[in-house]
This record gives sequence, C-alpha cells and structure tokens, in this order.
Amino acid sequence: MATEKMEFQTEVRDMLNLMINSLYSNKEIFLRELVSNAADALDKRRFLSLSNADLLPQGTQLRIDIDVNKDQKKLTITDNGIGMNKEDLINCLGTIARSGTKNFIKNLKDADKASVDLIGQFGVGFYSIFMVAKKVEVLTLKAGETQGYLWASEGTGEFEISECPRNEVGTKITLYLKDDEDSEDFTSEWRIKDIIKKYSGFVNYGIYFHPEQTTNDKGEIEVKDEEKLNDKTALWRQSEKDVKEEEYKEFYNVICHDGGEPACWSHSHAEGSLEFWNLVYIPSKAPYNIWQNDALHGLKLYVKKTFIMDDCKDLLPPWLRFVRGVVESEDLPLNVSREILQSNKIVTNIRKHVIKKTLEALQNMSKDEEKYTAWWKELGMVLKEGFYMNWEHLDELKKLIRFESTKTEEGKLVSLEQYVDNMPEGQKEIYYLIGDKNAVKSNPMLEAFKAKGYEVLLMSDGIDEFMMSSLMEFGDKKFHDVSRGDVDFEKTEDEKKAEEANKGIFKGLCENLQKVLDEDIKEVRVSSRLKDSPCCLVTSDDAMSAQMERMMKAMGQTNVPKSKRILEINPTHPICEMLKAKAEAKEDLGDWPKALYGQALLAEGSPLPNPAEYVAAITKLLTAAAK
Ligand code: ADP
Repeated sequence: MATEKMEFQTEVRDMLNLMINSLYSNKEIFLRELVSNAADALDKRRFLSLSNADLLPQGTQLRIDIDVNKDQKKLTITDNGIGMNKEDLINCLGTIARSGTKNFIKNLKDADKASVDLIGQFGVGFYSIFMVAKKVEVLTLKAGETQGYLWASEGTGEFEISECPRNEVGTKITLYLKDDEDSEDFTSEWRIKDIIKKYSGFVNYGIYFHPEQTTNDKGEIEVKDEEKLNDKTALWRQSEKDVKEEEYKEFYNVICHDGGEPACWSHSHAEGSLEFWNLVYIPSKAPYNIWQNDALHGLKLYVKKTFIMDDCKDLLPPWLRFVRGVVESEDLPLNVSREILQSNKIVTNIRKHVIKKTLEALQNMSKDEEKYTAWWKELGMVLKEGFYMNWEHLDELKKLIRFESTKTEEGKLVSLEQYVDNMPEGQKEIYYLIGDKNAVKSNPMLEAFKAKGYEVLLMSDGIDEFMMSSLMEFGDKKFHDVSRGDVDFEKTEDEKKAEEANKGIFKGLCENLQKVLDEDIKEVRVSSRLKDSPCCLVTSDDAMSAQMERMMKAMGQTNVPKSKRILEINPTHPICEMLKAKAEAKEDLGDWPKALYGQALLAEGSPLPNPAEYVAAITKLLTAAAK
C-alpha cells in the first residue's frame, strides 16, 4: 500500500491548531495522556484475551516503555496493548468521537484566555502531544492481526498512513520534539521520572525508562539498566490505615485529571458473603460535563485485579454521577458485560454499599458547615435529582439538603434540621416558596411570614418544583408552599373577626376587579398574607405554579395550559382602601386593575403578558398624580 494522505476532521484541526499554538504552561500533561492511553490499550488487550487466549500468549508481560534520544530530540513511548489497525487509526487519530470534546473545542473558540486552564482539567488526549512535538509517528500492530501500520503527522491539516512491518503487538509512538529556544527538555531523565511519578504512579502496569547509552572516558559504550518508574500497588486494595492523605489526593488526580482536590472520600473493603473494595471520591468542583446527557458516571470497575470498564453506570444512580473512583469485586465473573451488570445481584449489592458509603461521606463532610456549603453550591443541584428519582434514600437525602431562606445571611444556607430547631412556638409547618431567582426574596407573599417571625425556605432552581413534589414531610412537619391556597396561621379571635369583616367590606371591590381582570384571574379575594404590598398572586391548590409554567415555556413547550391565578388584595393598603371607596361610590376603577395585576406579576418575577398596556396604565396614573 502506498502512503495515503488524509485530512483531519474539522474539529480535530481546530484542536490541533489550539495545541500547536498553545501558551499553556503545563505542557507536561502530554505524557500523562500518552501513558493513560497506553494503559487503556493494555487493559483492553488483557480484557479481550479473557475470551480469546490467543490475543495474549502466556508469559507476555504487559508493559509501557519510554526511550529517549537527546541528540535527535526524540521521545518514544511503547506499549504492548491492543494496538490499532488502519481503520482504528483513521477513526481514533483523525476524528473526535466524544461530543464532550466537541463542546470543549467550541468553548475554547469562543473564549480564549480563561479556557487555557481547561486544557489541564480536561482529558484532551492524544492531540496534546502537538504542544511539544513538531512531528509524530505511530507504529502499531493490532492484536490478532498481521499487518502493521505507520501513522505520521506534523499536526497540520493532514496525516499519512502506510503499511509498515511490525512484529510486536502494540503501539510505539515517537515524538520529534520542538526545538524552539524556550521549549522544555522532555528527553531529560529526571524530568520524565518526575512527570510519571506525579501523574502515573498508580498505573496498573510497569512503566520502564531506558536511559540512553553513553560512552565513557575510555570510549566504551555503557549500557544502563532499564528502570521501573512506578511501583505502587493498587491504592484501593490497601488498608485505609496504611494510606496517607496525600496518597489519596494523588490518586484522585490520577483518575480525575481535574487538577483539583476531592472534597472528601470513602474507602472500604467488604468481606463476607461478597468481597469487594471501593474507593469513592466526591469532587469539590462539578465535572465540566455534569449537565450533558453523556456525562460520565465516574466509577471504574475492576474484577480480580483486571480492569473491566470505565464509566460503570450500574454502580451508581444518575444523581450521584459526580462521584469518581474505583470498585473492585472478587466475585463477579471476568467476562462480565454491560448487559450482565444490569441484572446482576452482586452488582445490586455493591451498588447499595457504594451509595450508602457516598451518602455517609457527605453526611460527615456536612459537619464542616463552611466546606459543605461551598460543596452544595457546586453540586447540590445534582443531588436534588435524587429526591424524585428514588424513594429509598429520601431520609438520608433530607439530612443533606440545604436552602437559602428568609433568615439566612448572605452566603449561608440552612438545613432542615436547623430550620425545625429554629421554628418559633406556634409554627406547625415548614414554609417554602419557589420563584424567580432575582425576585423570590422580595416576593410580597413573604410579608406576613416575616412579620410573624416564620422562616421561609427560598428556592429558584429549575429542579426544585420536582424535588418538592417528593418532599412531603420532614419528621412530623409537613411542607407548605406559601404561594398556594390559604395561609392558616394561628389567628386571634380579633384577627379572625377582622378578616371576616373585611371579606364583606371589600366584596364590592373584589367583584369589580374580577370583572375587569376576568380573562387572567380566577378569583379576587382579601389577603391575610400581605403587610406592605397592595396585592399578590396566589396559586390555587390544584393548579400549576407560576414557576412551573415559566419553566415549561422556557423548555420550549408551546401547549402549556394557562392556569388562572388568584389575586389577593391587602385590606390595609391605602391603594386598596381608596379603590374600595371608588367601588362603593360606583366609580369606574380606570387603569388601576391593570396596574395592580402588572405589579403583582412583576413582584414575583413573572413576565408581563402585555408590557405596553401596563406601561400605558402606569403612565396615566402617574400623570394624574402629577397634575
Ligand atoms: P481518549 O483516550 O480519551 O479516547 P485520545 O485522543 O487520547 O482520547 O485517544 C483517542 C483514541 O485513540 C483512544 O480512545 C484509543 O482508541 C486510541 N489510542 C490512543 N493511543 C493508543 C494506544 N497507545 N494504543 C491503542 N489505541 C490507542
């Protein structure tokens, strides 16, 4: 086969452009990426050999070798993993399959400077070699095949593939390093050792460094022995008491590459009817793709020291998808497939244990209020999904949830336990309000609660409506949405009498307002929840809330049913008193009804259905006042 020239996919070209011109200072990560690819390839070969022994002849030592040539500025990484055939080379080293990567590139194109940091956080993979190499050759033979191939590229628009004899299965990647003045020397022995130790100390296969041959004073060639750079045993198989905090953090970075620290972790070994190890980390920052459909579930599954798969979805529910770590089982069969995992009893048991340990780790962390609050702000939203996705863990989740409230100070949050402890005498229920982020705090509906000294939990995340529909009670306290139905405060006899009287006194005004606003409003009534504002909008118990309506519209739903709300008016407010007098005198209410309705919508953060009409009404009223 003659040499074939091919073009990189557009996204790859963008990525290469970025890598070649990268000012990113942490270029050493290219080696981490190469070693991690090599380790993956070794994992794959070992895994496939379980069902086809020919792919791994007995006695083969799976390993990674690093060679350097200082004079030629050459660095070679060789593995005897699965290898690639022509098709693999084109698919793997010519295109980008992961949609996450495509988004990553899109982000990089939009923003330039800030995102340079992202290079380190994100597994940018193979193409990162072009940060340090001017030319790259990949010589490879796939296990089970006989034809080897050579892939070469200078990182510009194209790459070349040709047939090339190769006897050993696996891949040899040669980097011809850039030789501009300020480029670092990645052929230096200590530098390579340093990088491997930093990023790849826990790789499951031996990584060997081959020092260059040197000539001594007598002109004799000195061959130095290869040196193994990693010698640590799998961390998760060690006993918790033998592992130092630093080692846990180091390992976190090996499996996460996010450059950050874990917020906390849980490490345990179960023995008995089942034997397994699990080490789960809770990141302190949300993984970059946590809101994408293809977000990774971060658990790696090993069986009897053999890597089986990344991203093992069956070990964790989606609402814990931010968790990272490793589970190793002694009991699962080595040839376990994704299909088997789904219905396997052993997996169900391990999963239960992993969830329990993860929730315990979070519970422990929550004792440090400041740390937990920071964590909750990053990832609490994902945990909230747990409320409507399962019933099994509601009790644990209720202890972990945090809220802003009418009483929390800036930056602080309150737990349900604290809320109940702080409830003043007479308060029977847990009050909450879901609304627009910018308006929820100042919603008029909160006025009476504030006056009574009752705390109201405030929420504005899209998911809160769903979450609250599963959250019926905490202990013996029921939850009560303050924007719905009646407020049944304990009232004195005098208050009850005044309320009854007001219903009669304001009857005429309510009827008048209803007539004008009939298209939008289900009912107009006298309020017992307002103190300073003239009016507010309340949802009846059986109707869809304003927040849900806004959300469904934002999600592009066109057939959202229009749910009519209840307009409550404040009998002690001067505007309402003035309008009552007008109604009694049978005067026309003019622009007031439209103005009041518009105010009520704006106060809760809802959009005005007809802004021009509202502005005209307000302008008329202001003009009249100015005369
Ligand atoms: P990722 O490893 O995250 O999938 P990369 O860009 O690093 O992304 O690699 C792309 C693909 O190229 C890998 O998924 C793998 O299929 C293939 N590949 C890279 N290096 C090797 C190697 N040493 N041996 C076999 N396949 C490899």
